[in-house]
Amino acid sequence: MLADDDHFNDECGVFGVFGHPEAGATTALGLHALQHRGQEACGIVSFDGEHFHAHKAMGLVGDNFSSSAVIRRLKGNVAVGHVRYATTGDTVLRNVQPLFADFEFGGMTIAHNGNLTNALTVRKALVRRGSIFHSTSDTETIIHLVATSHYSTVVDRLIDAMRQLEGTYSLVAITRRKLIGMRDPYGVRPLVLGRLDGAYILSSETCALDIIGAQFVRDVEPGEMIIVDDQGLRSIKPFAKVARRFCIFEYIYFARPDSTIEGKNVYGVRKRIGIELARESPVEADLVVPVPDSGVPAAIGYAEESGIPFELGIIRNHYVGRTFIEPAQHIRLLGVRLKHNANVARLKGKRVILVDDSIVRGTTSVKIVEMVRHAGAAEVHLRISSPPTTHSCFYGIDTPERSELLAATRNLEEMVRYIGVDSLAYLSIDGLYRAVGEAGRDVFRPQYCDACFTGDYPIRLVDQEKDPADNQLSLLEE
Ligand code: AMP
Repeated sequence: MLADDDHFNDECGVFGVFGHPEAGATTALGLHALQHRGQEACGIVSFDGEHFHAHKAMGLVGDNFSSSAVIRRLKGNVAVGHVRYATTGDTVLRNVQPLFADFEFGGMTIAHNGNLTNALTVRKALVRRGSIFHSTSDTETIIHLVATSHYSTVVDRLIDAMRQLEGTYSLVAITRRKLIGMRDPYGVRPLVLGRLDGAYILSSETCALDIIGAQFVRDVEPGEMIIVDDQGLRSIKPFAKVARRFCIFEYIYFARPDSTIEGKNVYGVRKRIGIELARESPVEADLVVPVPDSGVPAAIGYAEESGIPFELGIIRNHYVGRTFIEPAQHIRLLGVRLKHNANVARLKGKRVILVDDSIVRGTTSVKIVEMVRHAGAAEVHLRISSPPTTHSCFYGIDTPERSELLAATRNLEEMVRYIGVDSLAYLSIDGLYRAVGEAGRDVFRPQYCDACFTGDYPIRLVDQEKDPADNQLSLLEE
């Protein structure tokens, strides 16, 4: 078996409950709704007033948390959970979150969505001072900073830790007395607050509140720390205020369409994206066909605006994971074939507008276009509901190195040839901003993090600026 992950990037979902008699089961349901945010591993840690109980496993929530024996073991009315999708190397169980540690003040367990951009640099300094790391997860850096902090309360220690770290995070933690939620000052990753009867819920997305019948209260603010204990809820803002930069790619692809983030329903944004795309890049055709599932809402918007009929010309098999799930290229290629099939009866002889949300390496597009042509389409026009992905994300969305991004290495004409389409058009960055309700992108003060399209990284990439040899972690074969 291959070694550990040597990278920090991962895509994740987090969930926490305080004050519910079935906190473990509630968290399992919440994670099930957040499954799209990470399919490689999942974990829950609960607290019963005396002991912490953990269950972590590789694979899907439904496969690991549906047995009543597992749920019964997760005792207590406080729990935190995590779904994870690591981007490089094999995921090993000791990287699976929530991470637990025993501190001077008692146990604490943390679930983290995001990516700390100076975690490796801080980690090296901690190791020099004697810290012994057990995982390659950036979240463990938080644990060590909390452990070595000179502050006395757990809240102050966590603030002290996060002040030394840069990057993106939506954190949910539990201690012996508290549920703590925290969002980075730029608010790059989402985190929402909900109530279920008397209980407090924290979740990456609102779709996880819906599944358990919880009420949405509000988004956790960028830079806000929420502390829930027997006294109720307290909110503090421990960081200097900066302009918010929520990840615009959450709206394009990552979040679930039925979630509402920062006041905007994700499905609604995607549909408006399709409308903008149809206005910017119309083409004469017979059908608008989404690449399911991610292209569906934008294709509906495109069809509505253009007046061209929407058809399900490609059918998706729902029993395989996302294309990206298998890190190896040969599996990825196979994954695409497993996942989509052409609906020949609809496509034959038709001029087709294919709508997908993004092109990363181009693997999906090449396969899909080939399949649609093979099904007898007369013309294939590809419309992408985001601007060209030209830069890697270092803030928690999996993207390959720049050199592997199709749009970073080829111009439009070259991409048309490579993908084999009659025409190709991307949404403009201003069109994207219009779809999320802005007049356009404010170049001096961008309203979102759009680094993957613009290369404008709002948070320093401290580890990236280092010599790659310096960032190498020791790899343990398991
Ligand atoms: P590719 O085949 O490499 O061009 O990848 C593009 C496809 O992957 C699109 O259909 C997207 O829906 C999907 N996609 C884009 N970004 C991501 C991501 N960060 N994680 C997983 N899937 C993605």
